Amino acid sequence: MKNRNVDKSRNKNKSIDSDFKENTTFISNNHFNYELFPKMRLRRLRRTAAIRELFQEIRLSPKDFVTPLFVQEGINKNLEIESMPGIFRYAPDKILEEIDNISTLGIKAIILFGIPLKKDLYGKNSFNHKGIVQETIKSIKKNFGDKLAIITDVCLCQYTSHGHCGIIHENEINNDKSLDILSKTALSHADAGADIVAPSAMMDGQVKAIRDILDDNGFKDTLIMGYSAKQASSFFSPFRDAAHSQPEFGNRQSYQMSYHNSREASREIKSDVEEGADVLMIKPAIPNLDLIYSAKQNTLHPIAAYSVSGEYSMIKAATLNNWMDENLAVTESLTAIKRAGANIIISYYAKKMAEILRNS
Ligand SMILES: [Zn+2]
Repeated sequence: MKNRNVDKSRNKNKSIDSDFKENTTFISNNHFNYELFPKMRLRRLRRTAAIRELFQEIRLSPKDFVTPLFVQEGINKNLEIESMPGIFRYAPDKILEEIDNISTLGIKAIILFGIPLKKDLYGKNSFNHKGIVQETIKSIKKNFGDKLAIITDVCLCQYTSHGHCGIIHENEINNDKSLDILSKTALSHADAGADIVAPSAMMDGQVKAIRDILDDNGFKDTLIMGYSAKQASSFFSPFRDAAHSQPEFGNRQSYQMSYHNSREASREIKSDVEEGADVLMIKPAIPNLDLIYSAKQNTLHPIAAYSVSGEYSMIKAATLNNWMDENLAVTESLTAIKRAGANIIISYYAKKMAEILRNS
């Protein structure tokens, strides 16, 4: 009876073994599988801090990060954003000081958002060659040269009186009329010295329209970072407070994506690739780790992830209440974004993360 049981268990092991053989090359021998406990002990990899650090798979660096910066026309002191404690709208003559701090920490890029004094129906200030973003780009380039990559957000919502990302025609956001202004805006940024323009309006054909106008005007080396899969997300709310870009009526669901649809996100990403984007971006980041992963697996382009205002504000609010440790929460969430496949991470926590890395 006893022997029969032993035989049964051997047969059972044998069948597990042969299953493994079919599926993996990591098989030991017929008598014992070293992939299984008790020979295999994963806790060996975690025994001491030195061992854990040696086998750490994802390592963050300040060079992974891009800092978003808001520059506001017509103010002479920096204004803290109420829903994003610790984040400011910068006065034009104060922003260089902040960029110097960012650069000293080893961060290599910023993404710039402008808040103009005047808004109108067509967002004409967005392509004004003496506009707030264009002037700021010139002064950053003058002071920092190529030490820092300047990315610019190309959208109309900060510039239109109605707060939508495109032009309104016959009571709807008109895709094709918006392309003309978006591409003029991108051209004015490139002309001022932007290294990378990043169209975020979610208009169909925006990457192609911008690539065409840049090439026609001699800016063949200016990169385009597509906000490829940008979703109609509640996590953008603090940004609208920051950039004064709350739509006056309706919402953005007729142009930003539904977060229910990953297949549609793949089409958005594919169309940006075909239109000539150099970098693909997923936004927001933490709610879309699956999309970041699949974009990384299915394309050969660099993948950017935008960890948005709401992701910042959630951690900030919890840590201001001592509900979580800020440094640990920030490190964990940014590591998750990189682990999912992001090559670069745009984050309001970029500076804080660089400080954490410097002190670790
Ligand atoms: Zn917009």
